[in-house]
Amino acid sequence: MALMLRLYNTLTGAKESFAPIDPEHVRIYACGPTVYDAAHIGNARPIIVFDLLFRMLRHLYGAAHVTYARNVTDVDDKINARAAERGITIRELTDGTLAQFHRDVRDLGVLMPDDVNVAGERPRFIEPRATDHIAEMVAMIEALVRSGHAYVAAGHVLFDVPSMPEYGGLSKRPLDEMEAGARVEVAPYKRSPLDFVLWKPSKPGEPSWPSPAGIPEPGRPGWHIECSAMSAKHLGQTFDIHAGGIDLIFPHHENEVAQSRCCFDTPVMANVWLHNGFLQVEGEKMSKSLGNFVTIRDVLKDWPGEVVRLTMLKTHYRQPIDWTLRGLEESSRVLDRWYNVAGDAPVARDIPDAVVEALCDDLNTPAAINELHRLGSEGQSAALRAGANLFGLLARTRSDREQDAVAASGVDVAAIDALIAERRAARAAKDWAASDRARDALTAMGVAVKDNKDGTTTWTVAR
Ligand SMILES: [Zn+2]
Repeated sequence: MALMLRLYNTLTGAKESFAPIDPEHVRIYACGPTVYDAAHIGNARPIIVFDLLFRMLRHLYGAAHVTYARNVTDVDDKINARAAERGITIRELTDGTLAQFHRDVRDLGVLMPDDVNVAGERPRFIEPRATDHIAEMVAMIEALVRSGHAYVAAGHVLFDVPSMPEYGGLSKRPLDEMEAGARVEVAPYKRSPLDFVLWKPSKPGEPSWPSPAGIPEPGRPGWHIECSAMSAKHLGQTFDIHAGGIDLIFPHHENEVAQSRCCFDTPVMANVWLHNGFLQVEGEKMSKSLGNFVTIRDVLKDWPGEVVRLTMLKTHYRQPIDWTLRGLEESSRVLDRWYNVAGDAPVARDIPDAVVEALCDDLNTPAAINELHRLGSEGQSAALRAGANLFGLLARTRSDREQDAVAASGVDVAAIDALIAERRAARAAKDWAASDRARDALTAMGVAVKDNKDGTTTWTVAR
């Protein structure tokens, strides 16, 4: 491998050359959605960014040598509350929300397990669900209690934070500062305000499982233990990359590290920790109360997934991103331009080095996109397509894209052909008013016509 991937590691606070534990099997975990409500555009950012990382790792190490696990949290307070509110079972809520999530991310050009897994081979993409891994969580909790890193109190099992002197190493927060933050409303059964829940009692009607550590009443797991158990089961006790949004560093990832390291007695949980920056909408923090809460589905009603994807990747993943209408419009124009250059050219066999090199530098997508612009302005159709394909863009030819746009717009092709014939006849008869009327009718349908030098007329649907 000629090119070396460098990644900014939150754990060390430095950009480092990436060296997998086993280059024959590179393993990456990303915290996935909690399926209680439609995913919003902020949730889409890590999904798209780490999909690009997965594609890069597959390119650098070979598709058969990378395993990506992205979990689904389907047991959670918010899920219980939402199911009760809507009067449906928890399983109905989580299955429905997960199906919607899958439709959303597929439209964003994100690889899915079915796209990459090969029957009879080691899985390349796993989407583990928390409720399928309760036994693994219980086993970890039992081990933590046995080794003195966790204790039972009032039907809960709590992680004993002072039992781990390196706690705080990922988020780099001083212990006393974290304690001060946690001191608000400390549950009376906690020995230290920082101690966090591994297992808790279920309320009547909530999902429950037999509890660990001799607790007689049934209960359910806390959120953090889910990711420790699922990553260990599918990727091993120590793996290469753990990824997620910047808001997960503390407490979620810090607690995952504490659980996994203390349970397995390992020096690290994952060697590299990657975190994507915040997303805001038109300069403001996205919130339901501000009314600027944008779901992925909302955006996809107005914009093709490819436009959304390019908009997300124009900003470097660690920088905050401002989600704007202007940004979407700009991406749409860029894609039109690229499709015009790429046309129906075949994809070049090799991805241009300059694109790969830019992405090797901590996924420098703005620099890689500049390279795509350069290829576009040089008219290098096949190379542009190959480079854009690594981004999950320009997977189709221009003709296929136009056909898709026609199908998606629901325009009546027969009516368009009739109007074009009408316009042609009017022009032949020099009836300019009739010709203009036909053209206006087409414009109103979102159809742009182009008269070619050879006398034919072609048409496209806007976007
Ligand atoms: Zn997690």
